Amino acid sequence: MKGSAISRSRVAAAAFRAACDSPLVTAHLKTLAQLELAEPNEVVQWQERRLRRFVDRWATAVPYYRENPEYLRSPDGTAAVLDKETVRRSSAAFANPKVPARQVTTGGTGGRPLSLRISYSSFFSEWAHIAYVWSRAGVRLNDPKITFRGSSLGTGFYGRPMIYQRTYNHMAVSPFHLSEKTFTELLSSIRDLRPVAIWGYPSSITPFALWAARTGPHPELARLRAVLLASEGALDWQLDLFREVFDAPPIRWYGQSEKVVFGAECPRVPGHYHVTPTYGVAQVINDRIIGSGMTNAAMPLLRYDTEDGGVLAPPGLMGRRCACGSPFVVLRDVAGRWDQSLVYGMHDEPISSAALNFHDEAFARFDRFQFRQERRGEVELRVASAGRVPDAAELEKARCLLQHRVGDRLVISVTVAAADDLLSRRGKILMIDQRYRPSQADFSAMPAQPA
Ligand SMILES: [Zn+2]
Repeated sequence: MKGSAISRSRVAAAAFRAACDSPLVTAHLKTLAQLELAEPNEVVQWQERRLRRFVDRWATAVPYYRENPEYLRSPDGTAAVLDKETVRRSSAAFANPKVPARQVTTGGTGGRPLSLRISYSSFFSEWAHIAYVWSRAGVRLNDPKITFRGSSLGTGFYGRPMIYQRTYNHMAVSPFHLSEKTFTELLSSIRDLRPVAIWGYPSSITPFALWAARTGPHPELARLRAVLLASEGALDWQLDLFREVFDAPPIRWYGQSEKVVFGAECPRVPGHYHVTPTYGVAQVINDRIIGSGMTNAAMPLLRYDTEDGGVLAPPGLMGRRCACGSPFVVLRDVAGRWDQSLVYGMHDEPISSAALNFHDEAFARFDRFQFRQERRGEVELRVASAGRVPDAAELEKARCLLQHRVGDRLVISVTVAAADDLLSRRGKILMIDQRYRPSQADFSAMPAQPA
């Protein structure tokens, strides 16, 4: 298991290194720069042509679409919306076998593992789009950074509170060692690094920001240009806190493992995400974000229901540009997997469920899973498998893996539940069944929320 985690981390690091000076990334950025100069209606037309070409070239060889040709005829129009469960049950039918790809298992919103094929060039285009968001804040991919992320970069911290990773040119801080001692150590270890950005989960950056507010100003943080927020929703008070303490704008982006829609937050209007036309076409149907991705030829997903809520709007009034100058359409009020995504550690510190997210084979054996928290610092992973009862060794293996990942911030237990018990009231499985409310005592020193 560890072996596969290490090789995954090597692949991820190699992809990042290659992305930093890849002509593919540069080409993407150039295309986006040109499209930014176009008029909003021209962007829409460009995107229609691009989707048409993508479908003709890649989706026509996909078994599912051959059987359901309405997707090929009208990829952004009349075909039925593709739901996650359909893709989960017959993921092989969505593959274009001619395109080399990596297999990726995601946690899946509903708590059921979803198996995806991601083409190699799709990894580059992912970084290209992230590079685009960052560049709007004056940050390049390989600029020096402080990073608060978990295992998603592949490498474990092996009990260390922080590690410098040359490839990413960042000091990565474990989200499970967020203490005064770590922060003090962090500042002395970044003097030579001279970071220009903080990158990570809002929940992990928050304790650092509160500490910096209490103990600063710190000259080591004076060069920060942006706070790059990954993977989870940030609350308004957190955004205000970061803006104030780090004197730098928070920058967010929206995306999914399935790679159908990518949005870059508007630097002028917080909460508005400009849909990058090079990535996918966004529609909103019944208040849900439906996307047709154009970067992953290995598994083209057309009219795919992201299960995220949102509202689609033109960039500006009456067909004009946004105040930031962008002619790209806007997604706002984005809501979904980001909600209820926190668990609380030993001292009520919020921990992102993204840090708990796992891609391990050991978990793919369970059909359904869900985290439940009822007490401070304790989280129960509840699992179910159709038609069989997971044995004690499997449960212990899953527990060990998770416990190793979270360190001493949380005590993990793993139990078997009936699949039906994992259904929420709405008939959808919640990833986190959060029944505990922290006292807020440790985190009450927040700036007042805007009225
Ligand atoms: Zn804008």
